[in-house]
Amino acid sequence: MLVLDGKAAAAKLQEKLAEGATEYFKNTGRQPHLAAVLVGNSGPSETYVAAKMETCRKVGFQSSLIRFDASISEDDLLKEIDKLNADSGLHGFIVQLPLPAGISVDRVIERIDPSKDVDGFHPVNLGKLAKNQPCFASATPWGIIRLIEEYRIETSGKHVVILGRSQIVGLPMALLLSRNASPGNSTVTICHSKTANLKEIALQADILIAAIGIPEFVKADMVKPGAVVIDVGINRIPDAGKKSGFRLTGDVDYEMVAPLCSAITPVPGGVGPMTIAALMENTLIAAKRQAGLLP
Ligand code: NAD
Repeated sequence: MLVLDGKAAAAKLQEKLAEGATEYFKNTGRQPHLAAVLVGNSGPSETYVAAKMETCRKVGFQSSLIRFDASISEDDLLKEIDKLNADSGLHGFIVQLPLPAGISVDRVIERIDPSKDVDGFHPVNLGKLAKNQPCFASATPWGIIRLIEEYRIETSGKHVVILGRSQIVGLPMALLLSRNASPGNSTVTICHSKTANLKEIALQADILIAAIGIPEFVKADMVKPGAVVIDVGINRIPDAGKKSGFRLTGDVDYEMVAPLCSAITPVPGGVGPMTIAALMENTLIAAKRQAGLLP
């Protein structure tokens, strides 16, 4: 069984992105610049945004953290997004989710200029992904594609079963792996909360991707021996033995499933670091496009 080391693969991708940033600086006299909008101060969001800002520093990108109080109104947040869209000093930005109750995620995402939407959540980017046109692919599934490439996992002709149909993970993952590309050319089945016989379908998977947000949902009796298992889930489980008071676990029962698989991603250290690296890749692409260095 091979552990798919997302930390190592992300570090390798980041080295290339750092070279890309140096090259970009030579061409334009500027650094690629990513901003993150953080509304409120929920623990997990703080952690994710801090990791993204730190990775910017590592790869030689400029970064800006823009904070708003959780009490900001939707209208005011939309106006702030207009300002970021108009700021030519900024190549890309993300709005860290979730947002406080009362703010529509859809309205916020749809306000972002698609050319700066480096999270790849805007409907224009999702639509272009469906049409296999140049776009920003959602960072988590794009990071998984990079991980699959790094480990030369064959996807052509394989049956991929994706658990979860969210617009930021499950759905774009299905689009990426079913398109006529490499990696891609898979036969993809999406399962969700209303799927009947989920276990029987999961058992048919050559590649099983779990993105549902239920700790250790995938048990050993749901996995075909020799399958590749990719665990997207990040769940916080209370753990009095930890300083933080919690431990992280994925959507897969790692201890029971890992011995069965040909390859598996750990949590943490699998998909998470690849997501951040993919966000950096999208930011470099945004910077290059805006400088006319890429179509
Ligand atoms: P989501 O809540 O938007 O979607 C969950 C999906 O799971 C839904 O499509 C739902 O239909 C499906 N689902 C729920 N219960 C189910 C069940 N019993 N059986 C089958 N399907 C079921 O979640 P999301 O944003 O896609 O995130 C999924 C998980 O991935 C979460 O744990 C999240 O924290 C994690 N995540 C990790 C990264 C990363 O970088 N590693 C990025 C994004 C999300």
